[in-house]
Amino acid sequence: MTAEELAKDYLTSGRFPDLPDGHFIGGRFTPASNRKMASFDPGRAEAFAEFSLGDDTEMDRAIGTAEKAARHWRQVKPAERCRLLNDVARILRENAGRLAVLEVIDSGKTLAEASGDVQSSARLFEYYAGAADKLDGRSVNLGPEYTAFTVREPVGVTGHIIPWNYPTSTFARGVAPALAAGCSVVAKPAETPPYTALVMAEFLCEAGVPEGLVNVVTGLGTDVGAKLARDPRVKQLTFTGSVSTGIDVARMTTPNVTRLTLELGGKSPLIAFEDADPEKVADGAYWAIFSNSGQICSAGSRLILHRAIRDDVLAILTERALKLRPAHGLTSPEMGAINSARHLARIKAHVDAARVRGANILTGGDVTTDWQTGKGWFFQPTVIADLGPKDPAVQEEIFGPVLAVQTFETELEAIALANGTDFGLIASVYTKDVGRAMRIANAMDCGQVSVNDYWAGGLELPFGGNKKSGYGREKGWEGLDAYTKVKAITISNAG
Ligand code: NAD
Repeated sequence: MTAEELAKDYLTSGRFPDLPDGHFIGGRFTPASNRKMASFDPGRAEAFAEFSLGDDTEMDRAIGTAEKAARHWRQVKPAERCRLLNDVARILRENAGRLAVLEVIDSGKTLAEASGDVQSSARLFEYYAGAADKLDGRSVNLGPEYTAFTVREPVGVTGHIIPWNYPTSTFARGVAPALAAGCSVVAKPAETPPYTALVMAEFLCEAGVPEGLVNVVTGLGTDVGAKLARDPRVKQLTFTGSVSTGIDVARMTTPNVTRLTLELGGKSPLIAFEDADPEKVADGAYWAIFSNSGQICSAGSRLILHRAIRDDVLAILTERALKLRPAHGLTSPEMGAINSARHLARIKAHVDAARVRGANILTGGDVTTDWQTGKGWFFQPTVIADLGPKDPAVQEEIFGPVLAVQTFETELEAIALANGTDFGLIASVYTKDVGRAMRIANAMDCGQVSVNDYWAGGLELPFGGNKKSGYGREKGWEGLDAYTKVKAITISNAG
């Protein structure tokens, strides 16, 4: 079935064909314990299936299977790993339609956003396929008495705890470099809902990835997620999620001294100076906060405007926001749903609290439904202006389509506002002055900066945060570091 046919069929029947059942362990779907949880389609606020809630025994089996598979995989020639990962990318592209429709139902995003996510997932496998046979060491000159060099070795079993907002590419950005480096994988997708990771794991095996190398156990974070984080056989844990869970997970990995990558939240600023084009700034800010309904760790959730262009930018932005009608992701809207009823309530609580504080809410500010069906979990595109630097709407990650606007007069003030939260994921600056752009880029305490664009760049660049946005880097060449250990070997030339 094509993506269009699958989408049409789902919208009529409320069913998605051949949904995986159970966990994916040892190259097949395995019957799971009887505990199940309903999977909800956020665009309709209706359950469409049930998935298995794993337990310690099932996670234990998955880790044991991955441990055995890692022993074999590290011996597989890099050129063979490279060929297999390219095959994975090809199979993902061949099945892109099915995966994208499933991701819409899993997460609530639009089909265009989900299709982009699937294409980046395929690209991640291609990119790391290209890296698999280039993980060279260094030759080190210690003088004539010794020959010295380094080798990069795979770390072994890697654990991946995945959030709901980009379920496909977050899986790919951890799994692809892990496999390229010679590691095995146990993944724990988010519980709202977990299907794309299961389907991806099956595609990997179809491409020839050995059985047991990639395993997926579904269930609650507090059960199987915690078990994965605590298990001493897991040598690297890659966690993507909220700051509070990230801190808990860091505590769980400490007793085993497990390597840890934390990709946490953000409150990223878009700074615009008086010489920037207001149309361009408003367009950048619009997509930076309303893409994926604002449920992006690197969303541009703070707009920091020079006072001279404040009114022009906000007039354009609010006019566009007012026209934006969110709807079910399979009906081609510009904005999709909020992932769960619980998260929708959280966004509403943030905005209600801002209203009580007397905030200047220029547009939006409340929950809504799909304008065509009257169903689903949606939040109006919201712009809150003239906020002080310590306002909770400026400081806290709302993770929804809610933009906090601040104004400034001087460059130093802009820098202080932009760096003035606990987060440090990305930042963007709009100005025609190259010197100023570079000063801002250097001053930002975060992992990525774009100039005159938001999210400029791609998966070839490292991605990750400073401060409470986490540590470690994914994507790019740096994304391989988590999955390899460097060993130095020295030979005495005296024999
Ligand atoms: P979350 O922290 O609630 O859950 C993330 C994952 O952790 C889920 O799989 C969950 O089941 C699991 N989990 C929950 N409790 C656990 C526990 N005690 N032990 C082990 N695992 C546990 O986050 P979320 O609501 O799914 O995702 C939203 C958050 O993720 C936002 O803060 C967002 O900024 C962040 N995020 C960051 C990035 C990034 O790359 N920096 C990308 C996407 C999302």
